[in-house]
Amino acid sequence: MRIAVLDNRASLVVAGGFIDIAEASSGQFGPSINNVLASGEVFAAWVRTLDAPVPTLEELEVLQSDERLSCVSPTPRQVFAIGLNYREHAHEMGLANPTQPMVFTKFHSSLAGQHAQIPMVSDHTDWEAEMVVVIGQGGRSISVDDALGRVAGFAVGQDISDRHLQLLGSPAQFSLGKSWQNFGPVGPWVTTLDELTNPNDLAITCDISGERMQDSRTSDMVFTVAEVVSYLSNVVELFPGDLIFTGSPHGVGQGLTPPRFLKPGDTIATTIEGLGTLFNEVVAP
Ligand code: ZN
Repeated sequence: MRIAVLDNRASLVVAGGFIDIAEASSGQFGPSINNVLASGEVFAAWVRTLDAPVPTLEELEVLQSDERLSCVSPTPRQVFAIGLNYREHAHEMGLANPTQPMVFTKFHSSLAGQHAQIPMVSDHTDWEAEMVVVIGQGGRSISVDDALGRVAGFAVGQDISDRHLQLLGSPAQFSLGKSWQNFGPVGPWVTTLDELTNPNDLAITCDISGERMQDSRTSDMVFTVAEVVSYLSNVVELFPGDLIFTGSPHGVGQGLTPPRFLKPGDTIATTIEGLGTLFNEVVAP
């Protein structure tokens, strides 16, 4: 299934449009998506009783452009991001593959949804297409084997990065430079695992103003989704609705010769196989 957030209310994506989950369930689930994500199998069983028609791929392509789609998890308790988690990306940055996940945060006031307007706060603002994990049941000390069972689903994200601020100090610190307003769009909705054949082998692309800049597969990840979830949970408790940006493939602006960065008027279209397309626009600050 696919769960969207429209005007801050959790909604089911079905053929022909969206069903408001709180209304349809008489308040049993929603309107907060955190409550829906925490309900796991109980919620999935209720969805099956609806017997709602499943949208076709063509219908999904229309629905994903809805102006009301906000961040798939507007109020997560935690937002994690993994750096250098694609082999080819580490290579283009001139760095070795990490030997353990490199973790930072995007502060949650940077989150946005579909059609976000991204202010170009410096002339070194860069794109990073990323698959985003949305935590379901969560918990602590989750084994790699159990990890996917604690995940609600996946969405398309952009880890927009102000390379100037990110690399200003020594050592570099990532979190603030990746947390300007609207620097963390995530959408168009949460797609549950049962809709995907293998989250560890999905096509991921990013087009800047119609030009294909990133073209890879999630199989290039250094640490799989399950390994990342397990690793984090050995330190922190994961909560329903928490987000994990799982890293960018190669083809970011900083890795080009010469480097290229976003400019006002650029459009960013990020697509992941089975998860949809996230459309964002770069604007003057
Ligand atoms: Zn990133």
